[in-house]
Amino acid sequence: MTNPEPRTPGGDRAAAGTRLDPWFDSYAERAHGMRSSEIRALFAVASRPEVVSLAGGMPNISGLPIDYLADMTAKLLRDRGPEALQYGSGQGEVAMREQIVEVMRYDHVHAHPDDVVVTTGSQQALDLVTEIFIDPGDVIVAEAPSYVGALGVFRAYQADIVHVPMDEDGLVPEELESTLRRLAAEGRRVKMLYTVPNFHNPGGVTLAEARRPQVVEICRRHGVLILEDNPYGLLGFDGDPLPSLKSYNPDGVVYLGSFSKTFAPGYRVGWAAAPHAVREKLVLASEAAILSPSRFSQLSITSYLDGYDWYGQVKQFREEYRTRRDAMMSALTEYLPEARWTVPTGGFYTWVTLPAGLDAKAMLPRAVTNLVAYVSGTAFYADGQGADHVRLSFCYPTPERIREGVRRLAGVVRAEAEL
Ligand code: PMP
Repeated sequence: MTNPEPRTPGGDRAAAGTRLDPWFDSYAERAHGMRSSEIRALFAVASRPEVVSLAGGMPNISGLPIDYLADMTAKLLRDRGPEALQYGSGQGEVAMREQIVEVMRYDHVHAHPDDVVVTTGSQQALDLVTEIFIDPGDVIVAEAPSYVGALGVFRAYQADIVHVPMDEDGLVPEELESTLRRLAAEGRRVKMLYTVPNFHNPGGVTLAEARRPQVVEICRRHGVLILEDNPYGLLGFDGDPLPSLKSYNPDGVVYLGSFSKTFAPGYRVGWAAAPHAVREKLVLASEAAILSPSRFSQLSITSYLDGYDWYGQVKQFREEYRTRRDAMMSALTEYLPEARWTVPTGGFYTWVTLPAGLDAKAMLPRAVTNLVAYVSGTAFYADGQGADHVRLSFCYPTPERIREGVRRLAGVVRAEAEL
């Protein structure tokens, strides 16, 4: 599980095309560790209309009030055009950060606008946090499995990713403790725990409330920063969000949030809420990378949050996703009883364990031929595990398409099991 890739050309590197790319020998070492995401590679096939894609995690934003947004945007440009289209603050607009503080209250985060850095999606926040903390070979402890986009960032900074098991209540504190002890005994430098506590991508599970202070305390004792990634927190189907990890130890946690799932990903606005000194470094790193996040996007979002019942819209999204979750659960029960799966209480995903002996990655071409797409579990591990799992997304297709997709998948699984 050791990154980066070996220095000598060969294996993947040779496959990447030493001869085809005249710049191959000029790339930085970290660029050799970069791989195309299995999900992106799937996009082209999965987006053919005849394929039911249970692969992508695109939010279903068809319920957004487009006419309202059109009028709002026209008004923004007419009333404040030159301001909205200008460069802005590297940390993000004050009005945006004030509203982000209010949004985070729903997740039990009590922060000050000065603690917040606005980023180009929470993906950029992942990149910035990794940039300021990780030297090549540092260890990042992450759930098994983990969000593929975070793994890509960690690899780019040549981190060593060590996975810790989850169960149906999320990350297992005893496993975290024993992993951190083992790494300390080996003299490894563990810099952070990366975790998605709510409605995990891809695991579909949520960290139980009783485990939250335990996880925070274990990391505090070991001097390990927590990177709490929470884009789905407001999309729970049953009741209010659980307290964030940050609420237990604000100085030990960098919290990431996003408007991509609660509003729209196209604005590309997310944020980090960080302890003061960390926040300063994040702003410097972000200014070096992008000068400032889009002011136009931020002012658009502030107008929307101010002028529209945005929380009512979030509730509507929850209902949409709950209906789709229900469709997927009942289709799995009906068509694929020989598999096991997690029952998500929010978010977009379920994590399916295939019947013994099946290889999700090897099975994928056959699935696509049978007009259904998923993501192989291997995408979500740094070390090649996961072949007996698939991630299924229920966020985007209609309930009927979800049913049909699971029916097709079940046919492929059965055919494969009989081979
Ligand atoms: N973290 C997780 C767990 C995600 O699922 C995603 C989006 N798929 C992101 C971060 C990044 O989202 P964005 O950059 O759109 O905020």
